[in-house]
Formats: sequence, C-alpha cells, structure tokens
Amino acid sequence: MNRAEFDVRWRAFEEKCRQCKACALRENATNTVIYRGSRTAPLMIIGEAPGAEEDAVGQPFVGKSGQLLQNLLVAFDIDEKMYHICNIVKCRPPENRRPEREETAACKKLLAEQFFLVRPKIIVLSGSTAYEAFYDKKPVMRDVRGKWDERNGYYIMTTYHPAYALRNEGMKIPLYEDIAKVRSKMEELGLLPPLTPISK
Ligand code: URA
Repeated sequence: MNRAEFDVRWRAFEEKCRQCKACALRENATNTVIYRGSRTAPLMIIGEAPGAEEDAVGQPFVGKSGQLLQNLLVAFDIDEKMYHICNIVKCRPPENRRPEREETAACKKLLAEQFFLVRPKIIVLSGSTAYEAFYDKKPVMRDVRGKWDERNGYYIMTTYHPAYALRNEGMKIPLYEDIAKVRSKMEELGLLPPLTPISK
C-alpha cells in the first residue's frame, strides 16, 4: 500500500470510528479518542478508556496518567515515531467508570482494524481492562505483568496501568521495569539502537 492509499484508509477508519454507534458511550462523549503517536509505530500501547481530559482533547493519555506514561517513554528515549497509543474503547465512559464487557466487545472490531493498519511488532497492554479485553479472562496482575507473550510473531506484554501506579506509589518501580523491558525488546528487534549511557 502506498502513502496515499494508506492516508485514505486511515481517513476512512477515523471516520468510521467517529460514526460508530456500536454502544451507547458515544452519546455522552465529546470526542472519539483514536490514537496519538505514529500510524506506523512498532510499539502499540493499549490503555483502558479515555478520561475527562482525553475526551476534551480527543487524544489518549493526555491527563495525569498520560503524563506518567509520557515520562517513562521519554526516560527510555522512545519517541513519538516509535509508539502508537490508544485504548480498548474510544469513547469516554460516564464518570470515568470502567468500560463494560459489552462496550469493550463492541469496540473490538475497530481496535482490530486499527491494529492491522498500524501493524506493530510489540503490544503493551496497560492495565487489567486491556488484558481482559485482549485475552478474554481476568488477570492476576502481579503474575502476568512484565512477561512477554510471543504469538504469531508479535510480542505482547501486560503492565500496570499508570493510573494504578499513581494511586499506589510502590507500583511505579515495576511499571518502570516493564517499560525498560519494552525498550530492551525494541533494541533486540533492531527497532532502536542501544541506549547510550550518560557520560560522567
Ligand atoms: N487512561 C486510559 O486508560 N486511557 C487514557 O487515554 C487515559 C487514561
């Protein structure tokens, strides 16, 4: 697919997202929150759902938890060209509640389409809702986090949601460690050069 065709497909996809009425979430949302970052990134980070800031701005992870995620990406020198950040559902659930099973199921088709447009090599499932929607089972987060699941040539890792790490200070280090593993995997796959140590 050439660049022009790719742009057309993306525009059509974004329009489809905006027109979606597969569940009731769109009724109360200001924006359909599709992604931020690159449309061809090797790393796809999937969160839960847009919150108030994301709904207002129309981009995922731009509030407090987004700031933590962004700090981690910057710390590991993973820039915008390398990531595609999105959510399991594209419309904000009222009162920032978790999306219901029917809502995540309704949004899955769009996420699958998004996945096949981006074609990432590495997928990070940020938090238990993303895990549950992806694997169709509830996780025990301390058991599943930070481990690579290699399937069909994709590398999938589950980690804590940054909002959870903000509420539980002790979870920041494991989250940091998991993003360090993501960085290492990107290096291993030749997607990024090794981080250069800061010279004294
Ligand atoms: N939490 C999420 O899971 N996604 C966002 O976009 C913002 C907060």
